[in-house]
Amino acid sequence: MIRPIVHYDAPILRAKGKEVGKITSEIESLITDLFDTMRAAHGVGLAAQQIGVALQVAVIDVTGIKERPSKMWIKGNVVNPEEHMPLVLINPVLKPTKTKVTSHEGCLSFPDLTLDIARSQRVAVKTRTREGGTFEFDAGGLLGRAVLHEVDHLNGKLFIDHLSAEDRRAIREDLEYIKRGEPIPRKMAENES
Ligand SMILES: [Zn+2]
Repeated sequence: MIRPIVHYDAPILRAKGKEVGKITSEIESLITDLFDTMRAAHGVGLAAQQIGVALQVAVIDVTGIKERPSKMWIKGNVVNPEEHMPLVLINPVLKPTKTKVTSHEGCLSFPDLTLDIARSQRVAVKTRTREGGTFEFDAGGLLGRAVLHEVDHLNGKLFIDHLSAEDRRAIREDLEYIKRGEPIPRKMAENES
């Protein structure tokens, strides 16, 4: 079921997700709804908070995105990320590298806003699976960025939190438009050209 996506600055986006215990039918429905909602919005990732649920569950699918490659390793071996999509993250634990790379990023909770965000180049991930097991992998490129972005959501953190005070001031008006549920005028002008 496609659910409404919660936009900035709804308080639920600041809620830390509770850890998932047993994979109940409610959790299964939540995962299905996350996928349905993410796909309808053409996103590459969606966290439970973004559909109003404060739990440690997020989904990711980078299939078919060639212009921004993803990298993935399992037990140190390079694997094809597409063979492991879509991904469900449940109670994920991350070990990000100190080295960071800056790239543009959007968020379904911030319509029309694209920001340059510095994130770890690579991240080690340990997550529960929907079958109740565990899955460990390393992620880089777009997939690594998506994992870091979604797990931020699970901890009540948003991509704007990574900006410097100065960069944050520069988008203050954009954020006011998003809060009011209005399109950002500057972005519309860019799209028209
Ligand atoms: Zn987001």
